[in-house]
Amino acid sequence: MFSYRHAFHAGNHADVLKHTTLIALMKYLTQKDTALTVIDTHAGAGLYRLDGDYTETSGEAQEGIFRLVSASKTPAALSASAPAATKKVAPPKTPGAAKAAADEPLAPALQDYVDLLRSLNPQFAASGDPAQLKIYPGSPFIEQQFLSGRDKLKLFELHPTDFKSLTGNIAQLGVGRQVTVACEDGFEVLKTFLPPPARRAMVLCDPSYEIKSDYARVAACMGDAVKRFATGTYVVWYPIIPRPEAHDLPRKLKTLATKAGRSWLNATLTVKSSKLTTDEAGDVKRPGLPASGMFVINPPHTLKADLQAALPQLVARLGQDRNAGFTLDHGG
Ligand code: SAM
Repeated sequence: MFSYRHAFHAGNHADVLKHTTLIALMKYLTQKDTALTVIDTHAGAGLYRLDGDYTETSGEAQEGIFRLVSASKTPAALSASAPAATKKVAPPKTPGAAKAAADEPLAPALQDYVDLLRSLNPQFAASGDPAQLKIYPGSPFIEQQFLSGRDKLKLFELHPTDFKSLTGNIAQLGVGRQVTVACEDGFEVLKTFLPPPARRAMVLCDPSYEIKSDYARVAACMGDAVKRFATGTYVVWYPIIPRPEAHDLPRKLKTLATKAGRSWLNATLTVKSSKLTTDEAGDVKRPGLPASGMFVINPPHTLKADLQAALPQLVARLGQDRNAGFTLDHGG
């Protein structure tokens, strides 16, 4: 069985990028009158404790969500304007530009993210004290928060312990059959739900990439899904690490979207250098995950502007060294 447990990583910078994008997507897609089917192929446990053993041991949330909320203690006004649309947006290069982005009111997608955290953490909401931020929502809880009565959420999680936690966490919501949870292989099961009844769907594919074959499975699964249901919104998170499969995945997704005549968007967030460092004792230190990306096939037209507003602020707040930056590409 896999050893990956998302609880170690909950609220890290990769979750911040993933969940900011997910919130922007869910907010837009649930505004329409037609029912939406949301399929989360790799759901995790659904909710995480930021003061629990796993998260405290890894400390990853300190480099992610805690940096965002520490810089946004007071309820911030929504940022109304996004930079003009461009094919590729350069990150703020100078410390001055980064500071300016850190001082601005939060971009709408980030404000929605902080508001969602407030709704799950009443003491944090009341005090604004980051130490009171104790509950972190995984993708299932984020998705569920945006559903209306006609929408459906289908969750898949293969790890028995996380499946049990997810089942218990979802049961507490008391939402009946609107949200279903199954201990099945998300890559395999996706095809059985496409096309969805009302022909509107968003799929989040967020594997742990613990096994090398996950990269190929993501590309194959997305290729098959687009063939079955061309107009769905398909969302893939991927790590940016020095291994060929990871490097190839966004390129493969871009090719398959382009060949299918579908639009796409690729957003990346880098928070630090990927180089090995040596500490004072002379021990070589690995940097941990330096960057990740979100690839979206058939993105709503609003997503680019949402991320153009949010990404510079994430660089300013989460960036750890001069390698921090973002990219935002789109096509089709
Ligand atoms: N999407 C979650 C979130 O954003 O909160 C995090 C998911 S985590 C990165 C990946 C999860 O996929 C892990 O909990 C792992 O146990 C599960 N998993 C691994 N292989 C799977 C598969 N083939 N099908 C379904 N779940 C799988």
